[in-house]
Amino acid sequence: MTCQKCKGFMVEERQPELSTDTVTHRCINCGFIHDPLMVQNRLNHLKEKGMLLHAA
Ligand SMILES: [Zn+2]
Repeated sequence: MTCQKCKGFMVEERQPELSTDTVTHRCINCGFIHDPLMVQNRLNHLKEKGMLLHAA
C-alpha cells in the first residue's frame, strides 16, 4: 500500500485504544494515517455541518 499524499511506503498499525479489530495504515514517510473508519466519520461530520464544500 502506498500513501495517498506522498506515495510513500505505508505500514500496518493496530489501534487498540480505538478498536482491537481496527488496522490502520501509517505512512513512514510523511506520517499520514489512512483509516477507513476515521475517514467515514469525518465525512459524516462534514455533511452534518454542511461544510463539505468548504473543506474540499
Ligand atoms: Zn506519505
